[in-house]
Amino acid sequence: MITMNPTSFASDPVAAYLVVGIIGAVVGSFLSMLVYRLPIILKREWERDCREALALPPPEKAETFNIAWPASHCPQCRAPLKLRDNIPLFGFLLLRGRCRHCSASIPRQYFLIEVLTTFAALVSVAHFGLTPRGAGAFLLGAALITLTFIDMREQILPDTITLPFLWLGLLVNRGGLYASLDSAVLGAAGAYVFLWLVFHAFRLATGKEGMGQGDFKLFALGGAWLGWQLLPFVLLFASLAGALYGGTLILTRRLTRSTPMPFGPFLCAAIWLALFYGWPLMALYLRGTHG
Ligand SMILES: [Zn+2]
Repeated sequence: MITMNPTSFASDPVAAYLVVGIIGAVVGSFLSMLVYRLPIILKREWERDCREALALPPPEKAETFNIAWPASHCPQCRAPLKLRDNIPLFGFLLLRGRCRHCSASIPRQYFLIEVLTTFAALVSVAHFGLTPRGAGAFLLGAALITLTFIDMREQILPDTITLPFLWLGLLVNRGGLYASLDSAVLGAAGAYVFLWLVFHAFRLATGKEGMGQGDFKLFALGGAWLGWQLLPFVLLFASLAGALYGGTLILTRRLTRSTPMPFGPFLCAAIWLALFYGWPLMALYLRGTHG
């Protein structure tokens, strides 16, 4: 939790925003590592579990790979990064997006994650101030950024992120941080059941799976943080954004109708938007439809 004296924040906002921005960039640097490593760690675990279930010999002993080990390195030539290349945001700019050793290009995604996380930190504090609500908004933003990029790369929404943040949403709303506890509980359970029903109805009708099971949990996470009232907005916005994006890709022939497109990133964007502007946007919509 950020503990800064609100009066010092008011008297020196530039310094305060600088500190918040640096925290955002550092967290972003951690997240870009997580986006790359977590799916690899999970896949290794799944392989081990599958082999165990099939009574196959365990996989050959691979080198240690976890969140902390090995140290940051070039994915191409595996040369370790120098300390100064590891500085969030500036490391990428310093290297001009290329490895110092083999000049393989570093995926722009790492840089993008750092920029987005920094942005999330600044927006959270600008909107909610240096308060528990501001800190919570940033924490949720960090989780949603991680889920977005993992879903885009791997088409999975890991339980290791969705479930803890679902519970966290219920916990922060015990004191009604963003919604009443009653609304949060209804939101979490209702969101899951709703998508579960849609999923099975769609499968019965078409024989196809329209979305992944991870989407249910992500939507439930949204319900836990926002309360049930904002869920229609989240679903509407995510579906519209997804349809627009998918339609554009199909029109420009970069995607065929049958290729699955992850829905998670659109849900993530909608949840975060709803945390800030859900109520004002809904009021605007209701005023528009009811005169
Ligand atoms: Zn390299």
